[in-house]
Amino acid sequence: MPHRTASQSRFSGRRYHGYNDWAKLTYGGRLQKVSIDAGFTCPNRDGSLGVGGCSFCNNEGFSPSYLRKQPDIYSQIDLGIEFMRRRYPKTLGFLAYFQSYSNTYDSLENLKKTYALALSHPQIIGLVIGTRPDCLSDEILDYLAELASQTLVELEIGIESCNDFVLQECLRGHDFACTQEAIRRAAGRGLFITGHVLLGLPHETQDSLLAGARALSCLPLDALKFHQLQIVRGTRLANQYRADPASLTLLGPEGYLDAVIDMLEVLPPHFKIQRLGSEVPPDVLVSPDWGMRLYKFPAMLEARLEARETWQGRLFSAPKFDSADQADST
Ligand code: SF4
Repeated sequence: MPHRTASQSRFSGRRYHGYNDWAKLTYGGRLQKVSIDAGFTCPNRDGSLGVGGCSFCNNEGFSPSYLRKQPDIYSQIDLGIEFMRRRYPKTLGFLAYFQSYSNTYDSLENLKKTYALALSHPQIIGLVIGTRPDCLSDEILDYLAELASQTLVELEIGIESCNDFVLQECLRGHDFACTQEAIRRAAGRGLFITGHVLLGLPHETQDSLLAGARALSCLPLDALKFHQLQIVRGTRLANQYRADPASLTLLGPEGYLDAVIDMLEVLPPHFKIQRLGSEVPPDVLVSPDWGMRLYKFPAMLEARLEARETWQGRLFSAPKFDSADQADST
């Protein structure tokens, strides 16, 4: 049986490097994100690149539904903190999470005003800014780096897939080279970067996921979020699924966890794992219905890692060069 590595013993007894464990060690307690919908759009919806969005996207499914009903960011933060305080009473501090759409897709002047408004809330100690890799100009990155020298800032970049054919088929509007370049430019400014990956997209295979994980392991990321593909109402994938359910192969929980583990094994031990999956509201979910809640995932992952006698980074080898190559195509 393989022995645990020294790096594994750093994971607070887990076989993967959990973001919350790291935050507790680094900051002394739990940091809780409070979602915000600041009213931005994205180039894949406003006509710059497309109007229908990525084939899987319906932001109603990905953001708390109460957000758009709130008159302003301040009210959204108040409501979010009230909710999260009940759920996590020991929270150390709250981060304003610009989650919906592309939150760097506006003039720098408007972005500055919007971020400043969130930071002016007395209970907000930092920002998490979600965006697409092609919405990160040098000017915006310079500003985020300046902001990060004054407060806590995490940049969350939608990677989704590392395979250009998969990205093209889901109508993403950018390729993996764009993602790699954005991550390198952001990391060059010292920003904390989380990558967001979506497992189970059409045309993604076990081989392409693994090739993608190897490509990610060469990038200067700090953290990763894993999400399973869920088909939600109002998306192109939902239309495709209704017309021909057999045209889409959806992962079950076991297959999904195994895919996450395959990727974890080749990822560097220092990548912090921020999320293991997502749940969309039942009224927008088309498929798959796993019939279980997400809070069970960490324990399920731990048990599966143990059963497979493996851990994050077990097969990781530090890159001998800084590869700019894209992951192998399917
Ligand atoms: S996933 Fe992001 S980039 Fe794609 S359509 Fe939705 S908001 Fe736009």
